[in-house]
Amino acid sequence: MAKSTRYIFVTGGVASSLGKGIAAAGLGTLLIQRGVSAEIMKLDPYLNVDPGTMSPFQHGEVFVTDDGAETDLDLGHYERFLDKPTSRLNSATAGQVYENVIRKERRGDYLGSTVQVIPHITDEVKRRILATAREKKPDVLLIEIGGTVGDIESLPFLEAIRQFPYDVGKENCLFLHLTLLPYISASGESKTKPTQHSVKALREIGIQPDGLILRTEHAMDAGQRRKIAMFCNVEERAVFESVNVGVIYEVPLMLHRQGLDEWVCRKLGIESSEAHIADWENLIARIHSARQEVRIGVVGKYIELNDAYISIYESLKAAAYHEDARLEIVKIDSEQSPEQLSEALAAVDGVLIPGGFGPRGIEGKIFAATWAREHKVPYFGICLGMQVAMIAFARSVCGIGDANSTEFNEHTNNPVIDLMTTQKAVLNLGGTMRLGAYPMKIKKGTKAESVYKATEAQERHRHRYEVNNVDRPRLEEMGMVISGTFEETDLVEMIELKEHPWYVGCQFHPEFQSRPLKPHPLFKGFVAAAITQRKSIAAKGAARG
Ligand code: GLN
Repeated sequence: MAKSTRYIFVTGGVASSLGKGIAAAGLGTLLIQRGVSAEIMKLDPYLNVDPGTMSPFQHGEVFVTDDGAETDLDLGHYERFLDKPTSRLNSATAGQVYENVIRKERRGDYLGSTVQVIPHITDEVKRRILATAREKKPDVLLIEIGGTVGDIESLPFLEAIRQFPYDVGKENCLFLHLTLLPYISASGESKTKPTQHSVKALREIGIQPDGLILRTEHAMDAGQRRKIAMFCNVEERAVFESVNVGVIYEVPLMLHRQGLDEWVCRKLGIESSEAHIADWENLIARIHSARQEVRIGVVGKYIELNDAYISIYESLKAAAYHEDARLEIVKIDSEQSPEQLSEALAAVDGVLIPGGFGPRGIEGKIFAATWAREHKVPYFGICLGMQVAMIAFARSVCGIGDANSTEFNEHTNNPVIDLMTTQKAVLNLGGTMRLGAYPMKIKKGTKAESVYKATEAQERHRHRYEVNNVDRPRLEEMGMVISGTFEETDLVEMIELKEHPWYVGCQFHPEFQSRPLKPHPLFKGFVAAAITQRKSIAAKGAARG
């Protein structure tokens, strides 16, 4: 076993969205399966301190860690693949790096020197990588650099990692570069030139990659591999490919078949066992042999963006894998008319409303929550999805016509969802979010207890508004069950309805803790209920026919 931490730097070239995070996570998984402890951290070159303030159009999902950091969605991949929680140590942005350097400058820590990108920013980047290694003590720390080589933004990060081997020893570092091998259909061949250029750009700033991973639609032939090795100055053995796969969880297996993990361990002088990949192989086999179908409608306003709800989608898939079902996700835009929404909702076996902020599309979500309740179709409301279920219930079951959240109508007379008094005193929006893991007490005899098989759980939060405790008795009287609470300040964590096959809402984000090999109990319960729903409708149809 490695005595000190080894470092693997993963950079990307040619284009963004090549799946660098998934490739890094795939390699991390293989290392763990070899008995090598691995951690991954992401360095993001943007100047936002964290992605919490970015629109989903810009950034996709904001992934929240147990310790309440708002981070890049790649951390979600890391957790799902490596099956361990990340923390704020697993991510650093240029915003955080600059903020810290400027804070030190104001404090006078630099003793009169001119503060510069090199060495002050680069030193801060290196300090953060070393701090993660020191705290987490992994055998291998993978460091994924966001962005594409050639961007101005990522230069300080690349310079920092160029220097890194001089601080910790060359033998302890490995550079992997992920590029694209585009297929030109007119000539019927894949082209290596963009990769050559990307490696050239990397070498110009002093980084010679040890290995390459080429993202490609068509497998490389021996000639291409030789050519890439020759012109990029890497050993032929170190040219790996990542061919498009149907399911991202095949990536570790694909990389393993090419011997990536074995090559990495040899290069870094790590003694380890063979990778135990049976669980992943079984998962893939199970996915491919699934027979039954299930259709889940996800009602949201960023529905056209795959990345905006990525952990939700992965959690639904994981639950479907577990139920041996083929999942079809039907993306339903919440800004449609009630007629359009009804039509879309009638075609699914379960309705999920994910988290969200702001008033746009909110009435469509309230409509969908009401529709699922009235039609007894399985419903799962997450965070905002729970809040709209509450509003829908208050309006149509309790007869409180103007029930709302003060997020959408500040002047409503019936704020069933509201800021807590303690929050109202805080003017800065950033200071009022409930972020990270909180313990929940689960009520006995509820659906929540039956799926968690426990009376306590820890779940991650990212929201500002809460169920108004003043309204709880009215809602409970009419059949709303409060099935989970945060006892310390008596906040509602989960709700459900008795007279419904599955109508469940949670104030937290279970999708951040669901794993492909260990789907979250709430997602499992919901997808199982949707499958039952589908079967009962089919049975009724058959009886009628
Ligand atoms: N906008 C709601 C709140 O701030 C819900 C947030 C969410 O769904 N993550 O409470």
